[in-house]
Amino acid sequence: MNSQTSSEPERIEPIARVIDAECEKHGPYKAKQVAMGGGLPPITMNCPKCSEERREREELRAAEEARRRKQERIDQLFRRSAIPLRFLDRTLEGYKATNDGQRRALRIATRYVETFADSATVGPSMVLAGKPGTGKTHIACGIANALIHMGKPVLFMTVLQALRHIKETYRKDSTRTEEKAMAELMEPELLILDEVGAQLGSEHEKMLMFEIINERYQNCRSTILISNLTGDELTEFLGDRVMDRFRENGAIVAFDWNSHRGQRDAS
Ligand SMILES: [Zn+2]
Repeated sequence: MNSQTSSEPERIEPIARVIDAECEKHGPYKAKQVAMGGGLPPITMNCPKCSEERREREELRAAEEARRRKQERIDQLFRRSAIPLRFLDRTLEGYKATNDGQRRALRIATRYVETFADSATVGPSMVLAGKPGTGKTHIACGIANALIHMGKPVLFMTVLQALRHIKETYRKDSTRTEEKAMAELMEPELLILDEVGAQLGSEHEKMLMFEIINERYQNCRSTILISNLTGDELTEFLGDRVMDRFRENGAIVAFDWNSHRGQRDAS
C-alpha cells in the first residue's frame, strides 16, 4: 500500500543502493539493497532469475490444480449423470455416419451441442425417434458427453425410472415430496428420457410425462426423448401438447435406416 495521508506520522525514507550479489544457481547479479535502519539487517533483492523460475513453477502448479479440479468436476458430473456404463464413453466424434440419415443426425447433434456453448442457459429440446439399433442412444450420450465436458449437468433416465422417481414419493413412508422429486428432474441442464413409449402408459403416467417435459420447457431446460416409435406414433402416444414442445423449439430426428446393431457404434 502506497497511500500517504496527512495523519500518518512522517517517516524517514529507507536508503536503497545497488550491490553485486551472487546467486548459487545463476551466478552474479545486480541486487537492489535497502537499508532498514534501527539495527535491522538490510533487505537484498532476490535473484531475478530465481524469482522468475518460482513464478513459473507457481503458474504451472495453479494450472495443474485447475486442470485437476475441472477433471474432478467432470468425473462427478459423469457419476451423477446415470448414463449407462455401456454408453459412458460414447462421443459424437466416435459416431460413424455411413448414410445420409446418420450424417444428418450427427450434424443436428453437433449443432445441438454448439447451442449450449452459445447461450448460458437455454438449449433446445429434441426427439430421437426410430428403429432400434440405429444409434439413437449413442447420439444422445455423445451429446451428454460433450455437455459434461463443458461442465453442464446431465441426467439420463428411462421413462420408467423417471416415473418411479416421482411415484416413490406417493408412499406413506416417503421422505421426499412430489414437488422435491419434480424439482430434482428440473435441475440438470439436459434430461435424456430413454424408452419413451416402451410400455403403454396409464393416463396418470402420461400426465406426469407431460408435467416433466412441460416444466422443463417452462424453465428453459433441455430435454431429449429417445423412442423406438416413429414421429407419428410418438405424437399419438404423448399427445399433441407434449409434441408441440418439441416442434416449437427443437427437432424431431428420424432414425429411419436399418439396424446396425452388433457394430460397436450401434444402439
Ligand atoms: Zn538465481
